[in-house]
Amino acid sequence: MIKLHDKHFKPFLSEAQIKAAVKKVADQVAADYKDETPIFVGVLNGSFMFVSDFLKEYQHPCEVSFVKLSSYQGLTSTGIVETLLDVSEDIEGRSVIILEDIIDTGRTLKKLIHLFSKANVKEFKVASLFYKSEIYNGEYTIDYVGIDIPDKFIVGYGLDYNELGRNLKEVYQLNQKHMINLVL
Ligand code: 5GP
Repeated sequence: MIKLHDKHFKPFLSEAQIKAAVKKVADQVAADYKDETPIFVGVLNGSFMFVSDFLKEYQHPCEVSFVKLSSYQGLTSTGIVETLLDVSEDIEGRSVIILEDIIDTGRTLKKLIHLFSKANVKEFKVASLFYKSEIYNGEYTIDYVGIDIPDKFIVGYGLDYNELGRNLKEVYQLNQKHMINLVL
């Protein structure tokens, strides 16, 4: 169990499980794109570890860029998705593959789809390491998924709780039992 700020988190996914999920996504994308040069667009801040490990598994021609969006504050999605940085590369006519750390309600993805719909790209695909399919309510079907996880708040491997926990090698899940005990 670890403590970040006021909350306790319990181990959820090991380094080996994460590595296997990253490799699975990279292999699936490679099977579809190894004969061209796609642009991978990482969504900051959370995706930095995923992007880095993904690229080590994806050993084919490709380019990399980042956008910065944010919709979470603490444990809950604020619903406000801000674009803080835009891709600067010329992506017209190119295959763009979004690399997301996690897809939850799908609000962030909706914003991304809107951003890229203006760019006249050849193809637009989405790869997400973690996916909360239970609560996703977007219309877009996610193209590549690492692990489908329950609707519980997680930290580690790039994901934070109020900026802490991003550097953890494993993924931890909010310990709700502990929270209930505290309330009682
Ligand atoms: P959505 O817009 O799909 O609701 O949420 C996507 C964004 O919210 C992610 O890119 C991530 O930054 C954040 N997020 C969603 N679920 C979690 C979670 O369980 N833990 C953390 N740390 N962030 C999350």
